[in-house]
Amino acid sequence: MISFDEKTGVEIYIHIPFCVKKCAYCDFLSFPANDETVHKYIRALQKELALRAASIDHKRIISIYIGGGTPSSIDESYIGDILETVRFYYKVDKDAEITIEVNPGTATLEKFKKYHYYGINRISMGLQSTNNEILKKLGRIHTYEEFLECYENAKKAGFDNINVDLISGIPGQTLDDWTDSLKKVIQLGPNHVSTYGLIVEEGTPFYDLYGEDEERRQNGEEPLSLPSEQIERIMYYMSIEYLCSNGYSNYEISNFAKSGFESRHNTGYWIGREYLGIGLGSSSYLLGRRFDNTTDIAEYIETIEKNKLKFYNNQTLTVKEQMEEFMFLGLRMTKGVSRKEFNDRFGVSVEAVFGDVLNELQNAGLLIMVEDRIFLTSEGIDVSNYTLSKFLLD
Ligand code: SF4
Repeated sequence: MISFDEKTGVEIYIHIPFCVKKCAYCDFLSFPANDETVHKYIRALQKELALRAASIDHKRIISIYIGGGTPSSIDESYIGDILETVRFYYKVDKDAEITIEVNPGTATLEKFKKYHYYGINRISMGLQSTNNEILKKLGRIHTYEEFLECYENAKKAGFDNINVDLISGIPGQTLDDWTDSLKKVIQLGPNHVSTYGLIVEEGTPFYDLYGEDEERRQNGEEPLSLPSEQIERIMYYMSIEYLCSNGYSNYEISNFAKSGFESRHNTGYWIGREYLGIGLGSSSYLLGRRFDNTTDIAEYIETIEKNKLKFYNNQTLTVKEQMEEFMFLGLRMTKGVSRKEFNDRFGVSVEAVFGDVLNELQNAGLLIMVEDRIFLTSEGIDVSNYTLSKFLLD
C-alpha cells in the first residue's frame, strides 16, 4: 500500500529518449542512438541533476519516474548511475515510488534484478495489444509471447508493482481483439493497467496512412480502417466493465489500479504537485512556473557540458490558469476535486469562480456535487474533452 502526503514533496521525471526503433504511431521525443551518444547523454543528465538540485530547495522527493523513449534499451548500469546521482544531490523519501518504463525485448531477468537492486519499485510495461498482427502494424519490436517472458522476468526479480499499457482504437482492431487483450492482461494480474485510445498524430507514419481516416472519425463519419468512434466508446466501456469487475478501480479516465497501487507519479500531475523534469524535452513545474528543456540533443549535451542551463517556454501560471488546471486535471480522477481544497488554495469558493459551469454541467447530468466533492458522472467522462474544456475561463 502506498501512502504519502499528497500536498508536499516534489516528483522527478527523467527522460531517456532512446528506442531500438521508432513505432509507426509514435510522436514522443524518441529515436535510436549509438553508444557514444547514449554515454554522453547520460553523463549530461547526471550533470543536470547536480546543477538543478538547489532549485528545489531541499524539498522531499516522493517519486522518481524514468520514462522515454525506452529506458530499458540502455545498459542498466546507466540507470544505476542516474539513481545514485539523484540520491546524492536530493532528499529522496525512503518509500519514494521509483518507476522505470520497460519495453518487452529490451529487458532480461538480470536487468530486472539490477533495477530491483537499484531501488526501483515499479515497472511500467508497454504491451499495447496481445494480437501479434496488431503489434506488427504498430511497429512494435516485440511479440505478445516476448511480453509474457518479460513480465515473468520482472515478477521473478521481485517486482509486484507492475503497470501494463494497452491501446484501443488501432486500425483493424476488433472488439474481440480488445476483449482478448483485456482478458489476458487481467489473467496475469498486474496491479495497474493503463488503457489509452490511439490518437493518429501528425508527423507519424500512421498519419500518412490514417490521417484522413482520423478526421473522418473525429467528424463522426464512418472511418475506413480505424474503428469508429462508437466502437472506441464500446472498447472504453469494456475496459471499465472487465477491469472493475476484476478488482481494479478506474481511478482516472484511462487508469485502473488495485487498491493502494494508484500511480503516485500520475496522481501528482492531476493534483498539481510540483515536478522537476530532467533530460531532453522534459518539462518542469516549480513554484507556479512551467518551463521546458530543449528538444535538440546536441544543444542539450553542449549546454550542460558548459555547466549551463537553458530553458524554453518559460511561463508563470496566473491564478486563473492555476484554477483552470485544478479543475480540468483534478476532474480526470474519478474521486474528483475537493471544494475545500479549492477554497484553501485560492481563497475563494469554487462556486464563485465556476458557478455557471457547475450548474450547466449538473443540469446536463455530466457532473455531480456531493458534500465536499465534485466529480464527473459516467456520461461526463464519456464526453470528457467537452466537459473538461468547460473549465477554461476564457
Ligand atoms: S517504444 Fe514508445 S517511445 Fe519508443 S518509439 Fe515506440 S511508442 Fe515511441
